Amino acid sequence: MTPRSIQLAPTADLGAVEHATRTLGLWTTRLHGADGSPQALEIQGHSQWVDPDRIAGIPGVTGVLGAPSGHPRVDASAHQPLRVGPAVFGDAPVLIAGPCSADDPEQVMACAAMAQAAGATILRGGAYKPRTSPYSFEGSGHQGLLWLRAAADAHGLALVTEVMSERRVEAVAALADLVQIGSRNMQNFALLSEIGKAGKPVLLKRGISASVKEWLLSAERLLVSGAPAVVLCERGIRGADGTTRNLLDLGTVALLRRVHGLHVVVDPSHAIGRRDLIPDLAAAALACGASGLMLEAHPNPGAARCDGPQALDGETLNRIGTLVRDAALGAAR
Ligand code: PEP
Ligand code: MN
Repeated sequence: MTPRSIQLAPTADLGAVEHATRTLGLWTTRLHGADGSPQALEIQGHSQWVDPDRIAGIPGVTGVLGAPSGHPRVDASAHQPLRVGPAVFGDAPVLIAGPCSADDPEQVMACAAMAQAAGATILRGGAYKPRTSPYSFEGSGHQGLLWLRAAADAHGLALVTEVMSERRVEAVAALADLVQIGSRNMQNFALLSEIGKAGKPVLLKRGISASVKEWLLSAERLLVSGAPAVVLCERGIRGADGTTRNLLDLGTVALLRRVHGLHVVVDPSHAIGRRDLIPDLAAAALACGASGLMLEAHPNPGAARCDGPQALDGETLNRIGTLVRDAALGAAR
């Protein structure tokens, strides 16, 4: 429950109650009865979350009222570890790496080897690619899925891959361990319901202009429709300025992870769009408690058919892999 208002006894020492709430990190506004006397304190939205029992223990407080949540299933999933093949989303960050698109079987196999060498436990890669321009490469389709599955199996990795159409849900869910919903489809409600029915855990990317509430409500829809678990993925939102590809919202990552205990993976590749700055964003994401990183990599970034400018080479991927391992060791201490 998120505390919303604090009921006061008529005899309460208002100054003392307000001092006690501020000490707990709660910022409040006085609410007055018809006679003008203060009867309650409304908790402002940017206050810290505080256990309602602690608030109720303040002398002069007679009760704490909370708002019901719009996404109770998401809330109930907090702090629940999630296993996806060899990967465990829990305290230690997970590394997900692979190509933007599955271009050919050799490239996919080489990407899986790079991912494994860097310490990844999940291979990423798109067989069906959402492209802004209808003239861009749209992926290798079903055969791309088969290359990805074979490469993941050959390297002991789980597979995450995107499904864009309701018609393909069954085929993708049959081959993927984690089904990805891309940024552009975060609010494609028919697709969300269909994917939920497939019964696979889902990686839900944040829509490019989606509020946190909209994102969590889409996660709720997946859980209501039958998905066993949802991992959120922050991949940058549209900022006021297009100098970088997107704007990575790390404040929200920290909030959803540290306060609400949800699994949030960060995708710095799509957030920044250029490979030289990805290591810095990756380090920042880990510092904010990210549940994992999702990175695009390619054995020959210049030859990538999709998102070449943000494809990491093996050396840089290994360097970030070391950061992930260090963060995991830190989490275990
Ligand atoms: C992707 O991860 O392959 C992708 C297309 O990302 P997004 O949906 O975040 O643009
Ligand atoms: Mn991409």
